[in-house]
Amino acid sequence: MCKHVLNAQVSIRSPCCKKWFDCAECHAETADHPLLQRTEMVFACKKCKKAFRKEADEFEESDEYCPHCDNHFVIDALTPKPRLEVEGEDVRIDARMLKDERLPEEQPRTIFDVKEAPNKLG
Ligand SMILES: [Zn+2]
Ligand SMILES: [Zn+2]
Ligand SMILES: [Zn+2]
Repeated sequence: MCKHVLNAQVSIRSPCCKKWFDCAECHAETADHPLLQRTEMVFACKKCKKAFRKEADEFEESDEYCPHCDNHFVIDALTPKPRLEVEGEDVRIDARMLKDERLPEEQPRTIFDVKEAPNKLG
């Protein structure tokens, strides 16, 4: 069970070791090699349990749905990240902090997490 993306709708098969992962971080934790990047991605829908392929290069809005059961699988990832606390600095001096807090938090989307994973893994 993936502890990084709590609401994962699909599993993704890694092109390198051909195993199923809920997210790129799961791969990073269990594999001893970096995740191989491919434009063709193989998914398995968690709802209907069927597998399907998608080209990440040609990914459109209609591709965000499982072709078998229409499950919308590209969703904002629900991640259990700890709240970022602003440390130290006097608020009166650094007004930027107050401004930043009002900006909506950018949520990574599950599929793009995987696409960008090699960058993250360094
Ligand atoms: Zn692998
Ligand atoms: Zn994970
Ligand atoms: Zn499905």
